[in-house]
Amino acid sequence: MASAIKDHTAVEKPKDLPPLLSKKFNITDVKQDALKWNKEWEAAIASSTAADVLKEISHFLDDSFFTPKDIELFHEDLRSVQDRVAEILRSLFNEGHFDTIWLLLNVAEKRRHILEGLKGASEAPTLWGQDCRALCPEVTVSNLLSQGGKGFIDFLTRVLEISESSIKPAFLPNSWWEQASNLPNPWNKFIDECFPLIEHHASHFVLSSALSIVGDITNRSEGMKGVLHIMENTEGYVARSLAQAKSTFRDKPLIRCENCTKTPEDIGQGVRFMVCSVCKTKLNFEVHYCSQSCQKQDWSLHKKACVKKPVSKGLRGTKGDSLWAFGDSDPAVELIRNLGKKEGRGLTSLRDIGVNPCKGKRSPAAERQAEMLEANRNVDYFLFTASGETVRFVIDDPGARMIFRINRGVIMTQTGDTGLDAMGEYMVKLMSGYPGLSRDIILKQLCEEHGADTTKQIVRLERKSRECGKSTFIEGWLKDSSNVFGDWAWLGSL
Ligand SMILES: [Zn+2]
Ligand SMILES: [Zn+2]
Repeated sequence: MASAIKDHTAVEKPKDLPPLLSKKFNITDVKQDALKWNKEWEAAIASSTAADVLKEISHFLDDSFFTPKDIELFHEDLRSVQDRVAEILRSLFNEGHFDTIWLLLNVAEKRRHILEGLKGASEAPTLWGQDCRALCPEVTVSNLLSQGGKGFIDFLTRVLEISESSIKPAFLPNSWWEQASNLPNPWNKFIDECFPLIEHHASHFVLSSALSIVGDITNRSEGMKGVLHIMENTEGYVARSLAQAKSTFRDKPLIRCENCTKTPEDIGQGVRFMVCSVCKTKLNFEVHYCSQSCQKQDWSLHKKACVKKPVSKGLRGTKGDSLWAFGDSDPAVELIRNLGKKEGRGLTSLRDIGVNPCKGKRSPAAERQAEMLEANRNVDYFLFTASGETVRFVIDDPGARMIFRINRGVIMTQTGDTGLDAMGEYMVKLMSGYPGLSRDIILKQLCEEHGADTTKQIVRLERKSRECGKSTFIEGWLKDSSNVFGDWAWLGSL
């Protein structure tokens, strides 16, 4: 009888599996070179099948190695780790800015945190240490860095959802698991024992990577400083929309069929796209087709430029689209694209960030401003002297111009009231000394256009900028954001 009573004070730890796969794949020691270690693991994961992995471990997964007691302990331990993970993720996501901070980090920093997570998971007291990686093809640096780091946020979100959906040890199915469940006997009888291996690894990965990020935020580490600066000095929506834009950047242009506009992924099944061979050889220019029939159908259009000029339709996301680096989901980019479309031409410069139709009701003064701006795309704003003469305000710096115009778009379409202060402060600073203009004249005009509250908003921002030692919000923001976005040189191509 006595032996059946569970001894809660004893320290019990399930047995460990010996390292099998890390040995088999000859993986470098993580302490020696973490990047190399990860690269070798990613290659091993990509080249091995679920059956390969199960073959290695199957004889450890039957009753001769683990007793039911071991398994029970293992499940208890897993659930307690999952509870901790859920608690941390909930608090991170409730803080509100976690995903924005993450997306704004530069890629080297993101990679470092993910590596910390993987290292932590491999060193954690799980049953199988780093060998668990072979069962978790989704938890890789390349996967989690996908879409500018959105892959990581999506993963955390799914982990949290699944942990909250059950009080039992939660299971997030992955592609390895799906492959393994479709294997014939005897392999598929072991997969139930594999789920704690997968989940333990995933949970410890989340714990370690989150700890690494939170540590950097708390200590204002070198790599985190620039991002925190933006978060503290920017209206939330600007930081959010920039983070969003960053996450949808493409690293290379898409290939689309010039006729049906489909991408190779749309068609699938390893389809080989063709190029117009004369354009390729004579102009070194590629016009893509998914099939001969598409090429035939498009000929009447393509023949006008074929061999003469490197001209394509500039389909969305392809090399010929000046905004190819941007993904599809960013509203600011959509705004720019649609503008180009409305005019019946592609966007060729920042001047095309116009003001768009108003969603609310503009004052008569703002209505006049919008009409003048639409008619004069080179001008960033029209100011008026006391005697009613028009002064064209034009910004040279491409970064400042973009921020100014995004703010302008929000205000003139009345889709939000933030950004008016930044726009006003910038014009007051740059234009007050202009012949015929003064601070008061500019403020009076802006109040007429955007409401009596405008001056108060601008003065408040001026005070804030002074306190932060900045000339204006827009200039300070550009300086800070260069840590995250580089020098805005990419805008030069617009
Ligand atoms: Zn086609
Ligand atoms: Zn051609």
